[in-house]
Amino acid sequence: MISPEQKMDLMISLCKRRGFVFPGSEIYGGFANSWDYGPYGTELKNNIRRAWWGRFVERRGDMVGIETPIVMNPKAWEASGHVQTFTDPLLDCKKCKKRFRADHILPSAGAIPLYDKEQPPPAKRAGKKAVCPACGGELTEPRQFNLMFKTFVGVTEDASSLAYLRPETAGGMFVAWKNVRDTMRKRLPFGIAQIGKAFRNEITPGNFIFRTREFEQMEIEYFVKPEEAPEAFEMWLKEMKSWVEDVLCISPKNVEYVEIQEKDRAFYSARTIDIEYKYPFGQKELYGLANRTDYDLSRHGQASGEDLTWLDPKTSKRILPFVIEPTWGLDRTLLALLCEHLDIDEAPTSDEGNSEPRMVLRLPPMLAPVKAAILPLQKKGGLTEIAEKLTDAIRQEGMMVEYDDSGSIGKRYRRQDEIGTPWCFTIDPESVDDGNATVRDRDTMAQERLAIIDIPAWLQKKLNT
Ligand code: ATP
Repeated sequence: MISPEQKMDLMISLCKRRGFVFPGSEIYGGFANSWDYGPYGTELKNNIRRAWWGRFVERRGDMVGIETPIVMNPKAWEASGHVQTFTDPLLDCKKCKKRFRADHILPSAGAIPLYDKEQPPPAKRAGKKAVCPACGGELTEPRQFNLMFKTFVGVTEDASSLAYLRPETAGGMFVAWKNVRDTMRKRLPFGIAQIGKAFRNEITPGNFIFRTREFEQMEIEYFVKPEEAPEAFEMWLKEMKSWVEDVLCISPKNVEYVEIQEKDRAFYSARTIDIEYKYPFGQKELYGLANRTDYDLSRHGQASGEDLTWLDPKTSKRILPFVIEPTWGLDRTLLALLCEHLDIDEAPTSDEGNSEPRMVLRLPPMLAPVKAAILPLQKKGGLTEIAEKLTDAIRQEGMMVEYDDSGSIGKRYRRQDEIGTPWCFTIDPESVDDGNATVRDRDTMAQERLAIIDIPAWLQKKLNT
């Protein structure tokens, strides 16, 4: 049996070996917790973004998409409360100087939980001393540490030029609400969507791309009449479930929808559900869904002096909409997809002379970085010409396709299995005479003969079903 740690190791090594995710700045010895997405990782991310945008923006009449800056007027982050409260409780080890998030320290090796809201802080727990999980040294009391990255805009570096990298894309949507409201002629309920990078100076990043300091979010702020908020919350919960199960094809048994109790919710949230995935390193947040009430619009309205209310045409009354916020992490989506669909066959295979177990990335075809591989069985007899022509025809249809004519067919299949290519087409000497090729299905391994001329349309059909 492969342990969860081994699975993660195999996955990380596959990601590097096959061009999904590389350690960032590697030629300079790396840079803590930064990652490059390689060609297949980038393609996979693009496919996730496309699926998300198509489903939640283009194919709905009640949504619009926008793009707002990473560096906004810092007043926005003061109004939203991020400057004051976007903090994590931190502890420093007095001996080894390592820093820990207090709520991440678990009772182990003599350490005691330090940030359990049910318990008084460590200093108040008579007779018990908190210790560093790394070296056993003495820890400081928890201190609040703001997670926003600071920067300076313009030529001077002083308080007047201080700005922040956005810690979430949501802020930009609240700040742009007035302009969207005034230009788009939408009626409530309607939503604004945005995909973009967010930055948090996480103290305990890790678990591969699960928690990084720079990551990408796909977020929706859905504006509703206050009384319609509970219904809209349910609607988005269903949408999120359907995204997880029908688009990502993640098994419901690997996902938990965790209702966050009032004492653990952000103070402005009327309801929050964390959508958690069972990663090999534990069950952790994948997405979130919150009823943010009218907190954001009321704060930005007060701070900017602008009227952010909405005129109800039926009653001619102005109301401040409530906001339902479903939020998706793009990097965590990619990670969950890899964890869910990487199939590791522990029985070693004999033909490739490779000690690693056979791995097949059974991604949903719509999301797979490469849709088809064209493999001529030999380089002579006109096979490569046929294969190149077919590759080109598929490429012209807008599908990612690979041509590969070197190495044994077993090795070529294995490579395509590892990058998740759903269909491989082999061109053999018979193809020259009968105009057919053999398609091999990644998941069933079933093989079938198809007329080469029909293959681009066959692929399109397969991808649309
Ligand atoms: P966590 O509790 O894991 O820190 P969070 O509750 O702070 O997450 P949100 O503020 O709700 O996260 O952010 C929305 C989404 O953005 C998360 O559900 C997650 O998918 C993603 N996300 C948040 N922080 C990170 C990070 N440091 N690295 C990668 N993705 C992240």
